[in-house]
Amino acid sequence: MHLVRLIYVSTMTEACDTSALQRILDVSHIKNSARKITGMLCYDPSFFLQCLEGPQEAVNELYGDIIKDVRHKHVTLLEYVTVDEREFGAWSMAFAHSSNIDKHTFEKYTRGARFDPFALNSEQAKDFLVEVAHHGSRLMTRQR
Ligand code: FAD
Repeated sequence: MHLVRLIYVSTMTEACDTSALQRILDVSHIKNSARKITGMLCYDPSFFLQCLEGPQEAVNELYGDIIKDVRHKHVTLLEYVTVDEREFGAWSMAFAHSSNIDKHTFEKYTRGARFDPFALNSEQAKDFLVEVAHHGSRLMTRQR
């Protein structure tokens, strides 16, 4: 079974209040661990940017559920590739609210403009999430 990495960006909807978001975080931790899926979810009231990595079939199945979820819309695939190793192997799903990401990281990917994850290409999206996960931003981590 191939290991794949999938990255998408989407827009949060009004259906996603604080308790709905908490439910996503809780469900992700439980279900991703069971499916050997790891990754990173970065969010704020206007967007989600998520990387899922794991066995191809499990990632495909989860993405099929995620794109139907009414708590977000405009789900846009940025990357879907076969990989040899994981970038987020320590986390069933690492979470970061945009307000907890350091300014330097944002500026690197925006060059001073407003952060717009829809404008990132696949490489920038992956590098951004890796940087957020590994370099000092405050994460609501859920270790595997
Ligand atoms: P529940 O969480 O109970 O949901 C059942 C159904 O009800 C789902 O179809 C859901 O769309 C809907 N629903 C649940 N709560 C609400 C609400 N408050 N308002 C409106 N509709 C609701 N799941 C994972 O397992 N792993 C992930 O990494 C993951 N990442 C996600 C990232 C984002 C941005 C979003 C929006 C969702 C994510 N989910 C993730 C949730 C996923 O879409 C499914 O809801 C979940 O996998 C199904 O879990 P469940 O069967 O326990 O259902």
